[in-house]
Formats: sequence, structure tokens, C-alpha cells
Amino acid sequence: MNRVLLLKATGLVTAIAAITLLVPGCSGTPDGKRQNDWPADHAGPKVVVSFAPLYSFAASVAGDDAIVKNVMTSKGPHDFDPTADDIALVTQADLFFVVGLGLDEKKAEVMRTRSGNKNMKIIELGEQLDKKDLCEGFCTHADHGADHKHDTDPHVWLSPTHAAKLVGFIRDELKSKDPAHAAGYDARAAAYIEKLNAVKAYGTEKFKDKQDKKLVSFHDSLAYFEECFQLNVRGVLTKKPGQDVSNKEMTELIRICTKKTSPVRVILTEPQYSTSSQGEILRKELVNSGVTDPVLVEFDTLETVRPDELTPDWYEKKMRDNIDRLAEKMK
Ligand SMILES: [Zn+2]
Repeated sequence: MNRVLLLKATGLVTAIAAITLLVPGCSGTPDGKRQNDWPADHAGPKVVVSFAPLYSFAASVAGDDAIVKNVMTSKGPHDFDPTADDIALVTQADLFFVVGLGLDEKKAEVMRTRSGNKNMKIIELGEQLDKKDLCEGFCTHADHGADHKHDTDPHVWLSPTHAAKLVGFIRDELKSKDPAHAAGYDARAAAYIEKLNAVKAYGTEKFKDKQDKKLVSFHDSLAYFEECFQLNVRGVLTKKPGQDVSNKEMTELIRICTKKTSPVRVILTEPQYSTSSQGEILRKELVNSGVTDPVLVEFDTLETVRPDELTPDWYEKKMRDNIDRLAEKMK
């Protein structure tokens, strides 16, 4: 670059910098505040949660006594990287609820470190469940060598029974942070747990007369849903969400799904990974192998959310939608 051009370029950068300083709101909303600013006129606990189901749980218990904010939206816990706004959000938070179990706790730790908020407590809700309530990840390996270890499946929120326990842990944490409003947290948690029990009863009723409860899940996420509603997950399409199955894994899935005595016809897809063709590839293979009426069913594992849809009753609605779609296609 010659000197004249360099001077022009430098001038341009200076001008842009000056405009940036003059225009309010370049780092956030039109009033110049970051979107994540907490209300100044609320003395209650400031609570962040890692992703959407935990928002429904915490906001339902918090009522007006605590402020709850959700971190992950379009990218769920498998793919999320915090932005500067996310870090700004946790800078003032008191409590950070995560699932833990290897899913999201490290991301919360990174956010705490980067924010410098040493006072914020990170609560790993899944770790508080009884060990006997936890499932191992799905496994189709035939070779169980000494080096072969299963991780815990972290998708505990997909069982309303487990969700109710997580709600209890959230209630206890809020009570200990804000004892003056303990009665409110108790009452709202009890009311919300009733709603979760109703979701379980709804699903139990919908699935009870199904003769064939076998399915293949999209990613390894259905263990708790399966257990809660007594379904039968025979395999998973992708070991890592967003990553295609290998030829070897697809061959094994086809073998599992085309067994003459126990064919599998229900294959789950996920809205988070809607561009994946893996489910359709398997479905066509099953058609070609003579399995009767193989179908794709969209199942939302509730790991992402459109921010404008996120309300305290979001979890219940989405779970009922999942139950409805699956029950409609199961026979
Ligand atoms: Zn997942």
C-alpha cells in the first residue's frame, strides 16, 4: 500500500471509530445498554440458566421473587460458545444453574472465569440426582474391552420425573439464597411439579396401548424419556450431534432395524439438525429391506429455543408436542 492510500485508510478507520463512539447502542440495545442488563430496581437473586428447559424450571419456581435469564438459544449445549454479551450477563449473576454431567458445566466455568464474577455459584443440577437415577450413554459396541467406558447420558430433562427432581433442587437453592421468600418458592415449585406430573401422565396414557415401542433416536439423548415412558430405543443415528454416521455404523443400524423378529420402523429426527439426511437414508434402507411403513418423526430434545418463544410453560408445551408427534406415528 502506498503512503497516500495508507493515510486514506487510516483516516477511514479513525472516522469509523469516531462514528462508533458517537452512535449510542453499538454494543447492545438502542439505549446503549447491553441487552443482558439486569433490572436495577429488583433486589431478588439474579439467576442464569444454561439452556431452555432449565429456564422453564427456574422461572416457574422464581415467580416475581428472582430474575431468571437464559444463555443458550440457537446453539444448544453441544455446540455453544459464549459471546461477549453472554459473559456480560453472568458478570452480575448470583446463581448459574446447569445440568452438568459433562454437558454444560465447563462452559459455565469458562463464562465465570472470563466475567471475573467469583461470587457466582454454579449449580450442577444433574449431579444432585441419585446415581441410580442416571443412565449410561447408548452403546452398540460388541467389543467391551477393559478400556471401554460409558459416559453418563446428560439428557435428564427429557424425563418429566427427573425434571421434577431438578425443580426441587432449584427450589432449595433459591430458598437458601433468598430465605425471606421461601414460602413463595415452595408453593410455586409444588404447583409446577404438579404440572410435570401431568405431562408424565399425559405421555403414559398416549403410549400405553402401543404394540411397537421400538425406535432409533437421532442423537444419543433419549435414555430418560425412554425409561419414563417405557419405550424401546434400539439405536442412535449419530454418536456426535451434527456428525454423520460412518458406513460401518449405518450397516449395524440396518442390521438392528431389519431383524425379522423385531423390526424397527420409527426413526427420530431433530429440528436442531434439520439439514441432516441420515434419518432419510436409514428410512429408505428399511423400505428396501422390507420393513413395513418406516417413518421419520421429529423429536425436539429441547436444547435450542427461539428467544421469543421462551416462557415458563415452554417445556411442558414442547414435551406434549414431542409426545403427540411420536404417539401419532407409533402403532
Ligand atoms: Zn443432546
